[in-house]
Amino acid sequence: MTPAVVRRTLKLAGLEVPLVEVTGSGDGPVLTVIAGVHGCEYASMAGVRRWLRALEQRALEQQELRGLVRAVPVLNMTAFAARTPFVVPEDGKNLNRCFPGNPDGTLGDRLAYDAFSQLISGSDAYIDAHCGDMVEALQPFALYEAGPAEAHARALATAYGLPYVIRQDKGPGRAVSGTSSGAAAEAGIAAITAEAGGCGLVEEHAVAMHVAGLNAVLSFLGMTDDGADRQPVRPPTYLERFLWLRCRQAGWWQPVVAPGDVLADGQVVGTVTTLDGAEVLETITAPAECVVMFLTSSPAVADDGLLIGLGAT
Ligand SMILES: [Zn+2]
Repeated sequence: MTPAVVRRTLKLAGLEVPLVEVTGSGDGPVLTVIAGVHGCEYASMAGVRRWLRALEQRALEQQELRGLVRAVPVLNMTAFAARTPFVVPEDGKNLNRCFPGNPDGTLGDRLAYDAFSQLISGSDAYIDAHCGDMVEALQPFALYEAGPAEAHARALATAYGLPYVIRQDKGPGRAVSGTSSGAAAEAGIAAITAEAGGCGLVEEHAVAMHVAGLNAVLSFLGMTDDGADRQPVRPPTYLERFLWLRCRQAGWWQPVVAPGDVLADGQVVGTVTTLDGAEVLETITAPAECVVMFLTSSPAVADDGLLIGLGAT
């Protein structure tokens, strides 16, 4: 028996979502991969698309694949169509704050519910592929959750091959909740959020990072035998805290640091000024020794607007 590829359309919250299933020739784990939880994160979508073509080629060439891959290249269909960053346009909700979802809620809640119950639930491993959204510049990293599946998730995050791996716990300092990988982790699934790319671009180096990461995950999970001839990956830097800084009031945000910069405690990361540039409303500083994981690249920030995400030990 050779691997079989089935392309179909899944109805999730009434939306037609493309799904590709690749069934291996032997027994193995169920790996679910979703991109486009955020509708303008193109590098991660492009990575999943390219990886799926390679999996199809693998099936054509009758190469070994064990287990089942389920992959969605774009989940947040209406945000993708409308080019709406961060949120589901119909209800203004960030889909990656809605998991595991609610069947009686608004579109974002229902889409999260259907995606979780029909795709993520029952998986042995889950990859949520992201990048910076339309107005976010980003240093590639992977996130995993504290909890019962932590050890496996940390190994999965390491296997993806990005330069930083951040552990998130449920403590009061947590940046966000309701993420798809967080809900998967709660259900005992080895799950990560993998981030590479940003700013609404389809940059080759970021796309290639996702493709390499997904292939490495197949090998890590024992679904392929490709690991032996792969170059050894440089181990990532492990970080324990994910700190998000916000401004007090709306204005013009001007960062003076870049993704990947290593910052000292108290170092200035940028300013928020009045729109005429005459007055500094706020000078933003690093709350600890840290690395810039992502930053808002647009100068336009709202009251309590997200400015920058930092990884710290
Ligand atoms: Zn995202």
